[in-house]
Amino acid sequence: MPTDVLMRLAEALATGAVRVIDLSQTLQPSTPVIQLPPQFGASNPFRIEEISHYDDRGPGWYWNNIALGEHTGTHFDAPIHWVTGKDYRDGYTDTIPAGRFVAPACVIDCSKEAAADEKFLLEPAHIEAWEGKHGRIPKGAWVLMRTDWSKRTTPESFLNMKDDGPHVPGPSAAAIRFLIEQRDVNGWGVEAVGTDAGMAFGFEPAFPAHHLMHGAKKLGLASLTNLDQLPPTGAVLITPPLKIKNGSGSPLRVLALVAG
Ligand code: MN
Repeated sequence: MPTDVLMRLAEALATGAVRVIDLSQTLQPSTPVIQLPPQFGASNPFRIEEISHYDDRGPGWYWNNIALGEHTGTHFDAPIHWVTGKDYRDGYTDTIPAGRFVAPACVIDCSKEAAADEKFLLEPAHIEAWEGKHGRIPKGAWVLMRTDWSKRTTPESFLNMKDDGPHVPGPSAAAIRFLIEQRDVNGWGVEAVGTDAGMAFGFEPAFPAHHLMHGAKKLGLASLTNLDQLPPTGAVLITPPLKIKNGSGSPLRVLALVAG
């Protein structure tokens, strides 16, 4: 009975048999924002301004004004974010069916590879090797790429911009195509500032984690953290973006339910 399932979940949460892990970075003015070449519009950094703090501007209350780009910090990419997803009426933050915001996660540990090679690319062969150990990625799951990139604490090392572009690990176009066409995933998530590899501007197609995923109405998550606390399979993610009218994405709190 569904009610029984939910009551057992509530009990497991109360006893700690199921834990809630926060996969979100703290949002602050120093939060790194993706850098584009100067001919393109720029996303603003996070800004926060005190309205009152139990003072003469408001003796009994504390609150702030905030301003930020939709794609700032730990954030959600909606299908409409990319031109390939532009015709999806149910691809905006306010129109994506809410059921897609709760889904299981498969976590592919690429931390050793990313430590050895900052431009490491996940390929279909890596995914199939992972499936050989942990089982087939179920339809409708999130696939998360653990790189430990979130442990880079300065904006410079996190963005890792070099003369030839950002040196940041990510998926190859073939890996993204595999996850869409062969596994029909819910979406793709990473620890880096964006869902694509740093050098993905030169891929075919350019930015496949955006171009192909959003073209197939799949979702994205960027700047995740604590992926090292998740099991390879069995976690359930809760990822609702802000319900911005016609929004292309939004900062969000990403929570993972983990048994044991
Ligand atoms: Mn984004």
